[in-house]
Amino acid sequence: MESKVFDFIARERARQERNIELIASENFVSENVLRAVGSVLTNKYSEGYPVERASGNRGRYYGGCEVINELEEYCCQQWKQVFSTDYHVNVQPHSGSQANMAAFLSVLTPGDRILSMRLDNGGHLTHGSPVNFSGKLFDMCFYGINDEGFIDMADVRAKALEQRPKLILAGASAYSRVIDFAAFAEIAKEVGAYFMVDMAHIAGLVAAGDHPSPFGYADLITTTTHKTLRGARGGLIFCRPELARKVDSAVFPGTQGGPLQHVIAGKAVAAEEAQTEDFRNYIHQVVKNCRAMAEEFSRMGYKVVTGGTDNHLFLLDLTDTGLTGKAVQDELDRHGITLNKNAVPGETRSPQQCSGVRIGTAAMTTRGYKEADFIAVARKIDQVIRAMQAENRQ
Ligand SMILES: *Cc1c(COP(=O)(O)O)cnc(C)c1O
Repeated sequence: MESKVFDFIARERARQERNIELIASENFVSENVLRAVGSVLTNKYSEGYPVERASGNRGRYYGGCEVINELEEYCCQQWKQVFSTDYHVNVQPHSGSQANMAAFLSVLTPGDRILSMRLDNGGHLTHGSPVNFSGKLFDMCFYGINDEGFIDMADVRAKALEQRPKLILAGASAYSRVIDFAAFAEIAKEVGAYFMVDMAHIAGLVAAGDHPSPFGYADLITTTTHKTLRGARGGLIFCRPELARKVDSAVFPGTQGGPLQHVIAGKAVAAEEAQTEDFRNYIHQVVKNCRAMAEEFSRMGYKVVTGGTDNHLFLLDLTDTGLTGKAVQDELDRHGITLNKNAVPGETRSPQQCSGVRIGTAAMTTRGYKEADFIAVARKIDQVIRAMQAENRQ
């Protein structure tokens, strides 16, 4: 039978190939990742973990897992190699959000207090938004950024001492500067809190050595595998070995059922790729491209939040242009440039409008873009913005 679905896939493929993709959380995976994810592994049930599945432990688990067991162990071993770590890793979380949920529930009980980065300062939904499980289940308190847009470590420490959280969370979705994991760890130690890092955005940079590593500092580390890591869509949790059992049982049976073994295969392929010289060169280029593009915007008179970037993304503060982030996002969409609106430091507009946009270079660098290409895109964006301003003045 012909399926209508393949029309959608073909149209989406064409869209992806046609557009300039600047969404900081997106990337283009390799053919091997696609092949792994679109494989017969999707047919297999494999609740539990390799060791217990192998022993047929009390008959609680499904049979036929001998190949799957090897695959999942291989995936775990590859990810430990990517980050040169002997932390325990769980490769089953279906997404970054699921990884965070299980990581929280491994060491916390509902009602416990978490200190995290304010959402409108660059944090993620799962870091305590009232509409998300995190904000509903836990007693959230927040630290923020200063007027220039940098994480204010004095504020983090003051909030930690005042609020006495059980867990301190570092990591963000829209922060363009190095995060000082050592300083966070110090504060967590001072107040006796667990220290968790959500490196969803920067994990590829950590793998390539372009951002300091949280390993050795954090008790728990979560990530997505599909952003700068350029793998199958999903999540991972790393933890100190002594937390391994807690983390594993928080994933299964705590918050998930059968693992997605086709996705675990896609994650394993990505882990292999992340250990190559090609990947390291790719990430170095992502960072160089990002810096070149941010500098071009500054040169053209735009306000880049924090004055620049250390990673794969930056934020443009459009307040001075009189345009909203939403309007610029929509107009750029019409010109085949995809990005998203974002709040800026001291935001005055609603989350539906925003005064800025977020720009990332991970995806187009995969497509082969170099500094000059990103500078050309920056100029194109400037033209679109100036045309919008001219129209508004008429
Ligand atoms: C993207 C992101 C997540 C969530 O990932 P999903 O796979 O979309 O659930 C979690 N934390 C941070 C910091 C992120 O940027």
